[in-house]
Amino acid sequence: MNEKISINFCVPLVSKIFYSSNHFYHAPLFYAQAHFVCFLQFCPCVLNVFLLQILKDFNMTAEIQVHELFKKYPNGTEALKGVSLEIQKGQFFTLLGPNGAGKSTLVKIMTTLINKDSGDFSIAGINPEVNQSKIQNIIGVASQDNEIDPTEKVEKLLVFQGRLFGLTKPEATKRANEFIQLFELEKERNKKAGALSGGNKRRLHCALALVHRPRILFLDEPTVGMDPVARANFWEVIALLNRKEAVTVFLTTQYLDEADKHATEMALIVAGEIQYSGTIVDFKKMVNPNGGLSLDDSYLQYIKTLSNQELSVN
Ligand code: ADP
Repeated sequence: MNEKISINFCVPLVSKIFYSSNHFYHAPLFYAQAHFVCFLQFCPCVLNVFLLQILKDFNMTAEIQVHELFKKYPNGTEALKGVSLEIQKGQFFTLLGPNGAGKSTLVKIMTTLINKDSGDFSIAGINPEVNQSKIQNIIGVASQDNEIDPTEKVEKLLVFQGRLFGLTKPEATKRANEFIQLFELEKERNKKAGALSGGNKRRLHCALALVHRPRILFLDEPTVGMDPVARANFWEVIALLNRKEAVTVFLTTQYLDEADKHATEMALIVAGEIQYSGTIVDFKKMVNPNGGLSLDDSYLQYIKTLSNQELSVN
């Protein structure tokens, strides 16, 4: 509504300036100005609509934009065949698809671990390939491929990660302690990362991804190897960050119950191509218009309709 007030205030002001200006005496210019002023005075609604649309477009710039992304590995595997996606700020998005569909490849490209062949993408309006360091401050990545120094202790790793991304020492220490508690790593605090169990290593990956307060979180199969209690705690933390701090979440998982419970938007990728992109609710309706199916069942039902040829990558 502020936009409307400012436009309605500006129109008479602008016309007053025009009428009182010396240009008034230059006939052709005067006529042009008069028309412009009339337009401003009599069409404030039109202007409001335009202005609101511009503001809307500005605010609605997708947090993650992917356009026609292609990736072929040196062995000839075409992992991505023109993938396009849009994820808005604060969305909890999940990318689903069978093994080998291209999920990790897409995450690796977006987090600048590997290069694309062609296409465009932007994260928070930034081209990650041009401004890699800026992107690393904005995103957090929890993936099984994360490399952790096995000789370093858990608490030290977390503080170091915070410092690396610009937190002061007291801030980094506070954040490290918060995540040690949240992910129940108290007993592991002084253990070397290499000595952790598989599940605890996953918790450490997630804590490391979050410690610098990223605004976008990439979670690639984050709960593999976690016990049920650890999984529940993990999702509580992520759901809270998404709800309270509007952190955008990009999740890949094979645990569709987790995606069903927490995500609202999804895309389905099969053999390097996006087959569906939209809300989870609409996906379920598309598969079974009568409703009542879980995401797990809807996904299975959809995949069963595809032929082996459609499922194979090349
Ligand atoms: P997903 O994460 O959905 O399981 P990936 O992105 O890991 O799928 O893999 C997509 C395809 O690319 C698969 O056929 C996989 O074998 C292939 N692939 C992945 N990484 C490489 C690589 N480094 N070299 C060659 N092929 C690869």
